[in-house]
Parts: sequence; structure tokens; C-alpha cells
Amino acid sequence: TSVCPLLLPAYGMVFDAGSSHTSLFVYEWDSDKENNTGVVSQTLSCDVQGQGISSYANNPPEAGNSLRECLDKALQVVPAEKQRDVPAYLGATAGMRLLREQNSSATEQVLAEVAKTMQEYPVAFKGARILTGEEEGAYGWITINYLLDSFTKYSPKAHTWLRPEAANIFGALDLGGASTQITFMPEGSMLSQNEASEFTLYGYRYNIYTHSYLCYGQNEMLKRLAKELIEESSSSPRVQHPCYPRGYSERLSPSWLRGSPCTAGGRPALGRSSVTLEGSGNASACLAALRKLFNFSACGQSRDCGLDGVQQPPLRGRFVAFSAFYYNFKFLNLTEGQPLAVVREAIEGLCTRSWEDLSSSYPKENPKRLPKYCANANYILTLLLDAYKFNESSWNNIIFQGKAGSADVGWTLGYMLNLTNMVPAEPPASLKGHRP
Ligand code: AMP
Repeated sequence: TSVCPLLLPAYGMVFDAGSSHTSLFVYEWDSDKENNTGVVSQTLSCDVQGQGISSYANNPPEAGNSLRECLDKALQVVPAEKQRDVPAYLGATAGMRLLREQNSSATEQVLAEVAKTMQEYPVAFKGARILTGEEEGAYGWITINYLLDSFTKYSPKAHTWLRPEAANIFGALDLGGASTQITFMPEGSMLSQNEASEFTLYGYRYNIYTHSYLCYGQNEMLKRLAKELIEESSSSPRVQHPCYPRGYSERLSPSWLRGSPCTAGGRPALGRSSVTLEGSGNASACLAALRKLFNFSACGQSRDCGLDGVQQPPLRGRFVAFSAFYYNFKFLNLTEGQPLAVVREAIEGLCTRSWEDLSSSYPKENPKRLPKYCANANYILTLLLDAYKFNESSWNNIIFQGKAGSADVGWTLGYMLNLTNMVPAEPPASLKGHRP
């Protein structure tokens, strides 16, 4: 059965309800465009004001209301006669997975409220749900390979579709606020079925490896790091933080750590009183402290292992590293394929700069983000090198990229393409605008 292009929607919209914030993406499917870079383009991205939807556990109706501004904007870019046909999705990720662990009824209420709000708008509401970590990883992988056109190649000379080369398929590295995902097509078959996903796209079968590590996103990592440093200093009221710049300090309230399942366990790190973290700007001590957040020993002698004893086949091919991988490296001007030695040097240099120096050098940078780049960048190094097992040479296979063409790289496009059957199992007839 071939898919009739006329049945495909002209627009689609997806809310990415992340742990730290929500964004709405509107995509447009243009059936006339004839080029090789995919014909779905991103018409709009809209940042929802305020925190992620999981922060509305105590006031679920406000989670719904928070979406209105972006929904209104979306309706302005879709012609009125097409609005009712626009499939509209909301996918929540690790922030809501964590809330579900702590308070499942509040989680359900938040989802019900966002669904209710979306249903008030004249679009084709298709559901609001929490994605599994594996879906998040797999859809990110579909997005990149769709945008970079690695699934299909039409040869105008031969008048036929060429088999995609495995070597041209990209792996996906995603770093969110609460979780991180690694997804790629390994060599041969997979040992464990837990991390295996199979997709048939345009007539070809892809066996991919994907794993999502909860509590390994960058905001949860910062919390876990703070907890560890506080515990090491026997809960004294002032604690040195090697990843924060000299001259910067931050007051932590006890509720900050208790609020997340990633740091709530064990003995409470904080009593009733608050603690002040004082930056000491020491790159090597920062790296050492970050390494302690990983459980490398769970892998034993096994070579095919990521972290926490999770199976991971050997890395293969090129990877696109997006979301927070990209944001942090963009800030450091490290997205031009710099070799690992240059990257290390740049990160060390950043970590030794005082808060006074940093804040006067980057007056436009968000002052909440600026003191965290040293921790985040060192965390990224630890994650990529020690956990995912990139090395000096395979480092050069990582492309730090936030957008491909007009579209943001993330799981949302892949999710929409999959659910609207825009990357069908069958080889395309006139899909993607080509005319074989
Ligand atoms: P999320 O997609 O909401 O899970 O967020 C991903 C992570 O990236 C979070 O830790 C955010 O705080 C962080 N982040 C988002 N936007 C930026 C930015 N422009 N610069 C640096 N970090 C960012």
C-alpha cells in the first residue's frame, strides 16, 4: 500500500514538555518542494513562559494555562481553513518521569490539564503523554537522519532510490535537564533486547541501540554534584564548589535537593538550614568531583558497557550532539570540530576565570547560566569520554549541532513524522517531493 501524499497533513504541532521548560514546534509539510534535504520545515518555535510542566504539580490548571500563549501564536501561522486538520501532540520527558516517581496522581492531573487546554483550540488533538526514554532517544535519531537526509537518496540518473549506506546514518546524543540519551546503529545484532529498537523506514530495516539515563541530565547532575560536595564537607554551612568560579556563591535551600528523586534518597544532605556553595574554580578538582557521580564499577570488566552496568555496543559512525551538548559548546565556541586537546584547554581556561572576570566579559549572558558552564562542560567531557566511551580519535566523529536547516534538532520532529506516518515503512512514491 502506498501512502497518498494528499492525505498527509499540511501542518503538525508538537509540544516538547521538558524538565526545565516547554517549547512548541509547528511543522509544515510542503508537497511541492523538490530538494534533497527533506520537505518538512519548521514554521514556528515558541518558548512557553515559565518552568516545565512538572513544576505545576501543586497547581495543575496553571500547567494548562501556561501553553495558551504559544497555542495562540501557532494559530496565527496556520491558515484558518487548515487548523482543524493540524495534528497536535504533547510529549513530556524526564521531568515528568521524575514527578511520576514522586507523585503519580499529580502527574496524571498535570497531563489531564494540558490535554484539556489543547482541546479548547481548533486543532486535531492527538494526545498528551510521557515518552519513555527510549522513545525520546529513537525519535531524536529519526529527526537528525531525516533532516540530514540519510534515510533515502534518489538517484535522478538511475531513476531509482538508492539503498542508504549504514556509514551515512548518524547517531544521536541528547542532553536534557533531567536525562541524557544515546542512540545509534551498532555493528551486527544486539545482545540485549532492552536497549534495542527496530524501525522500518522507506523499505529498509534499522536496528538501533538506544538508552536514556535518568538523573544524568545537566540540572539533575548539578543537584547530585551539590549533594555530594555537601556530604563530603560533613554538612558544614559553607561548601567549596570546584566547578563554580572564584568569587561566585550560591545559597541552597534544603528543599532544593529533597524535591527530586535523583537527590532525595539516602541520608538527607541538608538539615533545616541552608548551605552556601562557594566557587573555587578548579578544573581538575571539578572533573574529579563529577566522575564520582558515575557508577563505572557496575560494568566490571565488560567492554560493551555504558555506565551503571547498562549494556552498550561499541560506538559506530558519526554522531550529532544536540540540546545542552550544543548550548554549552556553542557558548565556548567549540562547535567547529575542534580536536579534543583544544576542547580540554578551552574548558580549563573557562574554569579558572573568576566570577568578576566572567560577568564583565559576558554582560549579555544569562547570569543564572554563566556560572554553570564550567560544570556543564566538564560534565559533557566525562559523559562522552568515560561513560559513552568516545576517545581522542572518535571524538572527531561528534558534530555539535543545534539546528539542521530551519529546524531545531530534538525528538519532536521524529515523533510527528512517525505518528503521522510521514516516514512510512514502504519506499516512497512521490513522498519527500521527489518524482521518481
Ligand atoms: P530541557 O530540554 O528543558 O530538558 O533542557 C535542556 C538543558 O539545557 C537544561 O539543563 C537547560 O537549563 C539547558 N538550556 C536550555 N537552553 C539553554 C541555553 N540557551 N544555553 C544554555 N543552556 C540551556
